[in-house]
Amino acid sequence: MTTTKKPAAKKPAAAKAAAKKPAAAKKPTTAKKPVAKKSAGPIQVEAISAHPEFDLFTYCELSGETRIEHDLLEELEPRFDNWAAKYLRAYKITDPAAPGDGGHLLVWLEEPVEDEIEGVWQDSQSAGMGFHNLAIHMVMSAAHNVIPELADKGCAPLPKPTAGILKAFEKLGLIWNAEGTVNRQFAVFTRMPYSEGCNICMLRPKCPNAHDD
Ligand code: SF4
Repeated sequence: MTTTKKPAAKKPAAAKAAAKKPAAAKKPTTAKKPVAKKSAGPIQVEAISAHPEFDLFTYCELSGETRIEHDLLEELEPRFDNWAAKYLRAYKITDPAAPGDGGHLLVWLEEPVEDEIEGVWQDSQSAGMGFHNLAIHMVMSAAHNVIPELADKGCAPLPKPTAGILKAFEKLGLIWNAEGTVNRQFAVFTRMPYSEGCNICMLRPKCPNAHDD
């Protein structure tokens, strides 16, 4: 939701002969308290189980379709199950230097899924798009399974990864791009547990659906 900026209230014109302000009393200098630094422990990377579920209603909603061709419909669920079994990866990455308890969820589909969709696309663009949407449905459903609040909010806020998390990405074979994507087409990266919604999302400046939680 976009918000319209309120017009700034006009300040009353300053009185010409304003009384001279008395000089501000000098504050007594106090010794600065040392800021307690968060102790940064080692990054933890843990493979976790995510159980995506195919849901026709959610799939249609995501695809913007009210009806699905019979041939495509027949293929959706078997392909979904096959991808989930072979190519779905889910990790919890915890960086103690990150906000909160430092936990993050990373879910993605391996490259063979992209190749498969590309192959289908060459024969039929509509079927290719159908499977493209199926892959999006899968990573989102997997994320919802691990962090149920994401389903209620309808989106996965994208936080800026710390330097430590970027290293963890590399070890998992993923390359982060500055615009907020990785080198896999179907992926979700978000804080775990859910926290702060759109406020921490890198996409907020350009997102038409951004809102305050
Ligand atoms: S800013 Fe947009 S993309 Fe980010 S969490 Fe909010 S709605 Fe989702």
